[in-house]
Formats: sequence, C-alpha cells, structure tokens
Amino acid sequence: MENFTGSFTQQEPIPEAAIAAALRVMQSGRLHRYNTAPGELAEAAALEEEFAALTGARYCLAVASGGYALACALRAVGVRPGDRVLTNAFTLAPVPGAIASLGAVPVFVGVTEGLVIDLEDLAAKLDQARVLMLSHMRGHVCDMDRLMALCDAAGVIVIEDCAHTMGAGWAGRPTGRWGTVGCFSTQTYKHMNSGEGGLLISDDPQIMARAVLLSGSYMLYDRHRAAPPPEAFADLRLVTPNISGRMDNLRAAILRPQLADLARQCARWNDRYRVVERGLAATPGLTLIERPAAEDFVASSFQFLLLDWNADAIRAVLARCAARGVELKWFGAPDPVAFTSRYENWRYAPSAPMPATDRILHGIVDMRLPLTFSLEDCALIARIIRAEVSAVFQGDLSAPATTTRAD
Ligand SMILES: *Cc1c(COP(=O)(O)O)cnc(C)c1O
Repeated sequence: MENFTGSFTQQEPIPEAAIAAALRVMQSGRLHRYNTAPGELAEAAALEEEFAALTGARYCLAVASGGYALACALRAVGVRPGDRVLTNAFTLAPVPGAIASLGAVPVFVGVTEGLVIDLEDLAAKLDQARVLMLSHMRGHVCDMDRLMALCDAAGVIVIEDCAHTMGAGWAGRPTGRWGTVGCFSTQTYKHMNSGEGGLLISDDPQIMARAVLLSGSYMLYDRHRAAPPPEAFADLRLVTPNISGRMDNLRAAILRPQLADLARQCARWNDRYRVVERGLAATPGLTLIERPAAEDFVASSFQFLLLDWNADAIRAVLARCAARGVELKWFGAPDPVAFTSRYENWRYAPSAPMPATDRILHGIVDMRLPLTFSLEDCALIARIIRAEVSAVFQGDLSAPATTTRAD
C-alpha cells in the first residue's frame, strides 16, 4: 500500500533575491515605510506601484494583513456600525470578522455546487444591504459579469476578497478589478508569502485617499506612488481616523521579487491541480468542482464534494486518507477545526438556516497543494484519495473502524 510522506503546510523557501532585499532593508535600519532618506523610494511604495501596474488598478495600498485590508475597505466605502453587509456563507472567519469589527452585521449568501456565491440567493437579498463583500473563497470565481450586473442594478457596492485569487481572473479581467475595491493577502498560505500582509486596490480616488489615511499615513501620504494626488486628501485629512495598519519595508522587500515571479508560480499551482483533478476523475461517489472556461483560476488548494454522504462515512474517508499521509479538511464538521468553520459557528452574526447551502457545506472536502509537492506527489495523493473514497463508498463500512489510526 502506497503512503504519502510530504507536508501539506510546507511552503517553498523565500527566494534568494527576496532574502537579499530583506537584508538590505535591515542593514539600512529604515523598516518603517515613512522612514526614508531624502529622495529615497520606500520598498512599500515601490511594491504598491508594481502591484497596481500588475493588476491594472490606478491605486494600491499595502497594509498589515488581508483581514485589515477588508475592514479598511469597508470603512473607506462608508460602512457604519449597524449596517448590514452581504457576504458568502462559504468563506473563512476573517471575512465576517472584518464586517463585525466595524460593528456592522454580516448577512450570509448561499453557495452553489461550483463553490461560488449563489447568484439567485444574492439577487433575493440585494435589497438588504448597500455593500457586498464578495469572497472568492478557495479561488473559485463566480460569473462576475452577472454578479456585477445584479449589484450595479441594485446600487450595491462590491468589495472583493481576493485572498485566494491573486493572479486569477474572470473572462480576462483580474479579480479585484471588478468591484470598487479589491483586497489581497500576503499571509504565508496565500500566493505570495511575507508571513503577514495585505494589499488593497481601487480606481476611486476618494475611497483610496480614505484608505491611505485610515491605514496610518499621518500627513505623509505624498510619499506614496500609487495613491491619489494630494487634492483628493484635502477634505479627508482631518476627519479620517488613523487606524494604524501599515505594511513595513521589510515585508514589501520580501514581496517584490515574488510579485515578479507570480505568473510562473500560478502556472505551477495549476499544473498540480490538473494532475489531482485527472487522478480523481470518475471516482464513484466523489463530485469534482466544475471550472468554467471563463474562470482564470489559480489553484493553490483542491476541493471536492462528497455530496449527500453521511457524516460517519466522510469521517471514515478523512481517517483512512490521514492514515496514509493525506491531510484532508472537512468544512462540514459541526465544530470549527483548524481553518474550517461554517456560518452557523459565527454566533456573533446570527443567520437563518440555509438548507441548500448546508447540503453543499456538509460535503466540502479541502486540501492544500503547496508548491513543494511534485507532480508525482500530486498523482500519488489522488490515487490514495481515489482508493479510500471508493472503499468507503462501495459500502465497506466495517473497514474504517479498523483504520482510524489518525483519529
Ligand atoms: C486568509 C484569508 C483572509 C485574511 O487574510 P489574512 O492576511 O490572514 O488576514 C481573508 N479571506 C480569506 C478567504 C482568506 O483565506
């Protein structure tokens, strides 16, 4: 019997050019983004300029985390305490958390079998809020043409959570460039790794001026390159609170060489994804996620559905795969485990039950695909999952009890 011995949490090392750039920042002692010598361009400002150029956005702001970028975007578009904000029922905890951090109230929208926001459910709820925080959860991008048409017609502002879609798009347009604001994360498990970090993009000068001031720019905003001109700040500079959350030059220095290499890394993720996808094709009982032709995805993780399976059978698959070294996460678990949690676990944001969404969430199985895995590793992982899903599905339900070593 084959076993897998790799680590699902092992990322690649930081590239040598990034380490060298980090050393230069440390040697300079100028880690704070506004601590520049006369005429010097801070690493943070250079990163913003390069990320704006890559995405085609007019403006970009580097901040302390992806979650900070989300909350900052909500504040910058004018969300106030008590306001309702639409968001995905299938997402990670920092998304409703960002909404709750303003004293605003998340209103959850369902998920489809394609693991994207349910546009029918969204259409039915659009009259409940002025803002949608759209999470491209696990890199699945919905029909953005349709979503924007619905939101524009209802006058709903869209903020995109692109934590899992840096480098991805829909119909040739990058994610983060459809809504009014796009928010990205550079946390270790996302598509560029600075430990923690976030980026926010927009074409709107007022919103971006507010975001820059909110992030803690003091009156030094003229040291930004990818920010609106000073006039945009004139009416805002004294009425916008400083909610400190800047990115520092050390993180920016680590990110700039990674940004230059992003397209190549995205292609490597997708090579791994396609190997797993092929290996799992036509596995009885297992539903693969359809990827529409217009979706330019970047798959740094893999999801499949065990639709309408009972909980014990899903737990048996997880245990049997774990015993062979394949670490799967289950979004259907009744209690939050590691990064998985469900909308009803976020008790600060009460919600009505959504049976169609619960059926999908119950069946979602998830795994990371770090670039430290070879294509052969990915083929092996798929063979293991295929064998164990088949064994349990074909009714061999006595077997799991003897193989739950990883429980
Ligand atoms: C990671 C993540 C965030 C938050 O990013 P941090 O940089 O960790 O704060 C937001 N949304 C999703 C979907 C994420 O996976």
